[in-house]
Amino acid sequence: MIFGIQIWLRYCLLFITLLQVIFCSGSEITKPTHHTDDGYINNYLPKEKMSKGLATVFKWRFTRNSQTIVDFEQLEPDLPFLQSNRSEETLTWIGHSTFLWQYRGINIITDPHLSNRASPVSFAGPERLSPPALVLRDLPDLDIVVISHNHYDHLDKSTVLGIYKKQKSKPPLFLVPLGMKEWFENIGIKSGVIELDWWESHQVGNWKYHAVPVQHWSRRGLLDTNKVLWAGWVVEAPDKRLFFAGDTGYSKDFKDIGNRFKSMDLSLIPIGAYAPRWFMKDMHCSPEEAVQIHLDVNSKQSIGMHWGTFLNLTDEPLDEPPVRLQKAVQSKGLNPETFITLKHGETLKNL
Ligand code: ZN
Ligand code: ZN
Repeated sequence: MIFGIQIWLRYCLLFITLLQVIFCSGSEITKPTHHTDDGYINNYLPKEKMSKGLATVFKWRFTRNSQTIVDFEQLEPDLPFLQSNRSEETLTWIGHSTFLWQYRGINIITDPHLSNRASPVSFAGPERLSPPALVLRDLPDLDIVVISHNHYDHLDKSTVLGIYKKQKSKPPLFLVPLGMKEWFENIGIKSGVIELDWWESHQVGNWKYHAVPVQHWSRRGLLDTNKVLWAGWVVEAPDKRLFFAGDTGYSKDFKDIGNRFKSMDLSLIPIGAYAPRWFMKDMHCSPEEAVQIHLDVNSKQSIGMHWGTFLNLTDEPLDEPPVRLQKAVQSKGLNPETFITLKHGETLKNL
């Protein structure tokens, strides 16, 4: 009898151990390394560098220079054409990281921001220097809205809600990094939002949308630092690949992206918000590093973004990024046409 109980107990112990092995090792194996109990981290930046101490933030705040206003040339987009276009490829720079890309009848907008400030409040925070090239009512019906992260210069509540309400009968699909769906639900967008982790993808028809790792961070409020993910996006049309780098410091992530996708036909890469380097380097690439990103992802044509739009976002002169970009492109011996900047409101056709 005792012998029987011992065998039974032994089987129980074996069963419990097996369960522990399956569940414990399973969760350790499946949990990606950029997911931590304190929030998300980057692939190639030590965790301690993810947030700046208060003293460092104050040092920047109290030693910074304010930017001198620059009167950038503003072009008027051909609105009737853009609104009815369903056949020609176009790329329009609306400002900062907001581009309208029309390809094969699909209208995609990146980080839509049409408001006057990149800020949680309407009376303070970085003010828009160059007006958006078009207003909400001018936008053609959008199919896809791609969001890189939740900083106020990339995720603008009034623009996102405006797009949603304008297209209430046929809203676009919002593609967002992991954890951001809740923000959309809270503002009343309860469906049509897909959130993806790095290297995950979502297919619509024969187009594929991939969230890819870039080096950045997230924060919207006081206690939510890095609680949701940030990402770049690769849009794979049947015969063309677009890379939207979002907001990023330079890291080995771009070599990883290049290794996975082999080449990009068109890349939108940030070239501004890099000064001072001692404060910005980890999270914002310089124009020279942007050129390295262009090379790492093997981009055929790149366009500089994230510059010349908001005043006092960072410290470099507002018109410096394109000048440094041109020099960096030349110093690498590249064709100057392969990495360019657009004027606000400029549309490229048949890229
Ligand atoms: Zn950002
Ligand atoms: Zn930004």
